[in-house]
Amino acid sequence: MKEIAAEFTTKSKEKAEDRNHRKTINFNIGKYNAVVPQGKQQFAELELARERAKNIKWKAIETLDSQLETFETVITRRGAQVMWAEDANDALDIIKKICVEKNCKTLVKSKSMVTEEIHLNAFLEKNGIESVETDLGEYIQQLAGEPPYHIVTPAMHKSKEDIAKLFAEKLGTDPSLTPEQLTLVARDVLREKYQQAEIGVTGANFIIADIGGIAVTENEGNGRLSCSMPKTHIVIVGIEKMIPAMTDLALFWPLLATFGTGQRITSYNTIVTGPRQPHETDGPEEMYVILLDNGRTNILANEKQRESLYCIRCGACLNACPVYKNIGGHTYAATYSGPIGAVITPNLKDLGDWKHLSHASSLCGNCTEVCAVKINLHELLLENRHEAATEGLAPYTEKMTWKMWRMAMLRRGWMNMANGNMKTRAINLIGKSWTQHRGKLDFPKKSFNQQWKEKQGAK
Ligand code: SF4
Repeated sequence: MKEIAAEFTTKSKEKAEDRNHRKTINFNIGKYNAVVPQGKQQFAELELARERAKNIKWKAIETLDSQLETFETVITRRGAQVMWAEDANDALDIIKKICVEKNCKTLVKSKSMVTEEIHLNAFLEKNGIESVETDLGEYIQQLAGEPPYHIVTPAMHKSKEDIAKLFAEKLGTDPSLTPEQLTLVARDVLREKYQQAEIGVTGANFIIADIGGIAVTENEGNGRLSCSMPKTHIVIVGIEKMIPAMTDLALFWPLLATFGTGQRITSYNTIVTGPRQPHETDGPEEMYVILLDNGRTNILANEKQRESLYCIRCGACLNACPVYKNIGGHTYAATYSGPIGAVITPNLKDLGDWKHLSHASSLCGNCTEVCAVKINLHELLLENRHEAATEGLAPYTEKMTWKMWRMAMLRRGWMNMANGNMKTRAINLIGKSWTQHRGKLDFPKKSFNQQWKEKQGAK
């Protein structure tokens, strides 16, 4: 859809010129950049760790069907119910059914990009159920009525002053509160919600096949409370989050922590393998795991793009991307932003509507350089462009331009017909969209042939 691309261009321009936005982003990414090198020191051989992680994800994705079945068999034995959702509507129907059964009025939710992908909060609100975000960053975004700005740091674009002002507006607090005081305010509100909630919803950072479990990583303890305090726990997770064995976490937990936030290990790492068992004293009475496809099997079917399913959502590629740093997360208008978002969104949704994201890249390769699991992100962006062109999805003017370019390039005589001045004038006039944001092209006065002949003659 052309409108999506046009809106992206308009918003990109606005954000790129917004100095306050740039200041906040540079400040927050600067803090991230300062700690990541320290976190990396925990790896004796970082490159080897990244390679190994990539290989494990390769194995998990290549055998995804059997890994998922193993997971389902093992976790079902301990009383969890596994449901398969082909798309967002399927997942929402399942959640609604559970909410009706449990007479749910309040639901607490830990941070989960998959719930953003299916627009769970809006759906629950429409159905008269209060859904409360319990991760501080997500809570801030919910108060502001905005989606997450970043896959790891949802409120990265907000300064502490912005947040104090928001709390004052929405919760009536003193606008001069410090970050510590604001955190205590949020904690007080949220503690009460945990007690009221009939259902807790979490995502999962990893699905563990061999032990039939899910792993949740977080820094605030809210995820652990969300999955253990309410009587019912619903997990909603994309099928690609698979790892074959629990022992793989020894590699993935430190990698995720370091590449996500620069920590050696995240504060709370929880493995859940089912609802409360007869001999246990706490935990939910019931546990449901919704395994979401929502376009992931399309990516799986594409041998070249399959690699993008290895992503562990550490967010490092977003922090390293010069485009993301200039235009910000919301401009993408998609759940997943930055380089990984630009790679997977056109494949999860529709290549025709979202291919522009794959063009929003300088192809500098910084994303590939920093990726925790060594996904060839910039090459996958090129692959998206290639697939869009092969499927004839490029605009008419672009197709014609390349056609003419090709014809000219194949005929030396044509290229030599005009002199340098004429070429410069023609290109800068015709190629306005090229020169709008770039320096003017300036052709040499003499053609390549002339220069070559002169060089040969001079020998
Ligand atoms: S693509 Fe790589 S760097 Fe980007 S979020 Fe995923 S794992 Fe992290």
